[in-house]
Amino acid sequence: MRLILVGPPGAGKGTQAAKLIERLHVPHLSTGDMLREAVKQGTELGRKAEGFMKAGGLVTDDLVIPIVVERLQQADCAQGFILDGFPRTRPQAEALAQALTSANVALDAVVVIEVPDELIVERITGRRQDPVTHTIYHTKFNPPPADVAARVVQRSDDTEEACRARLKKYHGETAPIIPFYDAQGLLRRVDGVGDPQDITQRTFQALGLA
Ligand code: ADP
Ligand code: ADP
Repeated sequence: MRLILVGPPGAGKGTQAAKLIERLHVPHLSTGDMLREAVKQGTELGRKAEGFMKAGGLVTDDLVIPIVVERLQQADCAQGFILDGFPRTRPQAEALAQALTSANVALDAVVVIEVPDELIVERITGRRQDPVTHTIYHTKFNPPPADVAARVVQRSDDTEEACRARLKKYHGETAPIIPFYDAQGLLRRVDGVGDPQDITQRTFQALGLA
């Protein structure tokens, strides 16, 4: 299955992607993870991307599009993939469409996880990740077990200020790609408010996997 997950920061894209890959056995392509790895490694891409990310802005299309197009050409994507956090702009959506057409493949669905803005700041500021297993936790909604709690880390852009900037970018630049996919009959809207397990159930149902 070839899927895209769209949603505001903190909507639960990463949390739900983890459940979908268990079921679908396809790679999870998160541009946020790819960019954070480039920053950590200190590559040219990482040096260029870091400032935008810290401020809650978007990394420019000319930097992000090639990393996704190259990744999609790798053998493990032949049977499907879950794109998480890409596309985030109209030019990215168009570049993706072109890359898929050239490869003679098509998307199966675009899942939009909908969460109102007023719930987002709390989700983002409480987010923590286990650097060993990469599991995503939340200080209040999904606290890590005692043996993991001491090692969880917080992302440097998970501050209230950067979160508000990211929300603005989401509404201004990313939400406008939704009608593009709706017009192609690919859109599946999922209510992202509730227990993560319920949202997994809703997502599977929306995709005909339940
Ligand atoms: P979240 O989990 O909050 O939705 P991500 O981990 O997907 O955030 O992305 C973190 C940051 O990385 C974004 O705020 C942005 O700066 C950058 N980024 C990730 N994906 C893209 C993209 N497709 N286009 C531009 N910038 C991106
Ligand atoms: P995204 O990838 O869309 O930015 P994450 O999956 O990283 O979102 O989730 C953001 C934060 O919200 C994490 O701390 C996660 O544990 C928490 N979270 C995810 N889904 C839910 C939910 N349904 N209810 C409450 N908190 C959630």
